[in-house]
Amino acid sequence: MTDKYCVIGNPIAQSRSPEIHAVFAAQTGQDMSYERCLAPIDGFADTIRRLVAEGYKGSNVTAPFKLDAFRIATRLSDRARAAGAVNTLAYRDGEIFGDNTDGAGVVADIVRNAGVPLAGKRLLVLGAGGAARGAMLPILAEHPRTLVVANRTRATADELVAQFASLADGCSLSACNFEDIAAPFDVVINATSASLGGTIPPIPAVTFCQDTLAFDMMYAKNPTVFMEFAAAHGATTRDGLGMLVEQAAEAFFVWRGVRPETQQLLKDMRSKL
Ligand code: NDP
Repeated sequence: MTDKYCVIGNPIAQSRSPEIHAVFAAQTGQDMSYERCLAPIDGFADTIRRLVAEGYKGSNVTAPFKLDAFRIATRLSDRARAAGAVNTLAYRDGEIFGDNTDGAGVVADIVRNAGVPLAGKRLLVLGAGGAARGAMLPILAEHPRTLVVANRTRATADELVAQFASLADGCSLSACNFEDIAAPFDVVINATSASLGGTIPPIPAVTFCQDTLAFDMMYAKNPTVFMEFAAAHGATTRDGLGMLVEQAAEAFFVWRGVRPETQQLLKDMRSKL
């Protein structure tokens, strides 16, 4: 019997996940379906109950339900617990397993796809919301030398750094304000939602140099304002399309135990943006 999966959000029409998972399923010969599921804003738990009753095997979860998914999970992966948010649910053995593959997606895209190892590097994360939180554990697992979190609301960055202090394992972990940045970083990850509004956090030009990889979690047909600013100051840039595909590949692996190939899909999606 075909195993059923879906992506849950509100709105959901914009989600690229069905086309990504259809390619993964065809490529790996998995008998599964994957559709969009619009959940009412106040009806996430009811939606999950219905999906479980109908025999679904799992779901991806997107805005605004990643916290609801965290709360409804009866078992969590370490990375979901650390992130405080869930983007992947698996319904199996009578439980709702919650995982978070967003951070693994960022790291896979930077390390594997862009070919930039993070070990021993100086990293700057801009933002301290859900996406930044989700990236912390996977980034620390790569053993960077320095990890600085800068956020508009300084207290949120301080809390994030305090939460992960015991997991830093030799990495110098600290928080700062955007305007405090005084020297270039090897990798700068924009995990703010500023790009959605066409703005950039007020970071100084000195944040970037010729050796910097500037990564924006957002993606669009054209480079984001953050990418343009970073490129103007010498950095190599990368958007969040690869992260999207890699977090999906990681979710696919959680569900099916098979790791799909991502490079051709990424090229095809890029050409259709
Ligand atoms: P949250 O709402 O949880 O966090 C938003 C963050 O952005 C906060 O740190 C907030 O700061 C900061 N921020 C918002 N507006 C501004 C601004 N104008 N200037 C400076 N900082 C700002 O969002 P998420 O963490 O869920 O998402 C962040 C980004 O990551 C989004 O663009 C999203 O699309 C992208 N994303 C991409 C994915 C992919 O697969 N490519 C997956 C997940 C997310 P403050 O604390 O001060 O409010």
